[in-house]
Amino acid sequence: MTTAPTLQFLGAAGTVTGSRYLVDTGGVKVLVDAGMFQGDRALRERNFAPFPVPASEIAAIVLTHGHFDHAGYIPKLVKDGFRGPVFGTEWTGRIAELVLMDSGKIQELEAKRAARSGRKPLRPALYNTVDAARAVLQFRQVPGGTDFPVAPGITGHLRPAGHILGSASVELKLEESGRTVVFSGDLGRNNHPILLPPVAPPDCDAMVVESTYGDREHQDETQALQRLASAVRNTIARGGTVVIPSFAVDRTEVVLRQLGDLMVNGAIPKTPIYVDGKMAVGVLHLYRQAMAKGLPEIRPFAVGQDFFNQAGQLHIVKSPEQREQLRRTNGVIIVASSGMVSGGAVVGHLVSRIADPRNTVVLSGYQGAGTSGRKLAEGSHKVWLDGRQLDVGAQIVSVGFSAHADSPELLKWLGSGKAGVTYAVHGEPRQSEALARKVRTSLKRRSVVPAYQQKVEIGRGHGPVQVQTGLS
Ligand SMILES: [Zn+2]
Repeated sequence: MTTAPTLQFLGAAGTVTGSRYLVDTGGVKVLVDAGMFQGDRALRERNFAPFPVPASEIAAIVLTHGHFDHAGYIPKLVKDGFRGPVFGTEWTGRIAELVLMDSGKIQELEAKRAARSGRKPLRPALYNTVDAARAVLQFRQVPGGTDFPVAPGITGHLRPAGHILGSASVELKLEESGRTVVFSGDLGRNNHPILLPPVAPPDCDAMVVESTYGDREHQDETQALQRLASAVRNTIARGGTVVIPSFAVDRTEVVLRQLGDLMVNGAIPKTPIYVDGKMAVGVLHLYRQAMAKGLPEIRPFAVGQDFFNQAGQLHIVKSPEQREQLRRTNGVIIVASSGMVSGGAVVGHLVSRIADPRNTVVLSGYQGAGTSGRKLAEGSHKVWLDGRQLDVGAQIVSVGFSAHADSPELLKWLGSGKAGVTYAVHGEPRQSEALARKVRTSLKRRSVVPAYQQKVEIGRGHGPVQVQTGLS
């Protein structure tokens, strides 16, 4: 008797982080994404819980893209005995390498800081740079648009997802049962300024779709651009500086592209732009390489162009001395990570700029609960930065550049292929429920929101068959 294949939601169920999905054919276990949980303490605690299956039993990992909440847990699995290949596109591998090494470094620094202060760290580091480097050695590049062997009895296929460079949707064909499961990964927008829209999914028995904006329609991007332009104009006119906290992967590139456009068409004055942050600079380099090479996922008009320095105003911060000097310079634009002011180079810049009312902080995306970015977005008069509580004198402006498809775009993508059951994941509960409802009413398909650690059978027209609870 053959065992029915199962799918277990080990993360990004009812939340947007910790993407981890386990496919088990009965004999072979494959993990799609191995991300870190981020956000409040309860979520972060999950990173320290024992993984539900021994890492050594996982035959392979398939990565949708290189973001930390999709790839950041891989070195921990390697440390615990995972020895299989990690499949992904070339550019996912290259971005994930930067992300994992950065994460290993941050954890090492935190451990050292704790040791110096004599206090016991709340939690031991999950991994260090040696573990991260070891994980990178297990990466295997696979091109999009073609079948590849994942593990015995499982064939994979990647299709561009238009979210960040290298991002892909993952199709797994399970040979013995004849079933197919598709993971959307994070899906990009149709109007990304550099990347082409996501490629349509194939027909499948089970569809696992992200639902970050399952209930929302994005605002017209021209409004966001106008807000950005007037913030820059007003700030420069009063002798201030614009600080843009920016996610290191993709958002920095989008912001640079938009600022360049605005300068070239005269909407804002030509103003020096400084990019700060090791990972942001590393990823910018990868985007430039990919555009020079003309990858198929790059918009044709962007191939061979240096969109990031259209107005000739781009500067890269290369040394601590340069950073110090920049802190004393006004009338510039600083783009620095992290996007939610939860760490990174932007914190130092804000410490020296946040009190001055001539300055402006432009928040360029989603601000998670509990972050300093959220506090600023909510209009707080005080904010904690680098262990100090500081007065907020600078103007705060939010412009929504999103790297995720909105509700109509998700439905259009889903509608371009047939699916047995659709599982809405990678969203706050309200967003996931809303998308599942729309899939039922608009597409007339079975759709559910799986619970954390729920296990379902992968079968045409079958819903959840077994709920596992109590695994903490
Ligand atoms: Zn992502």
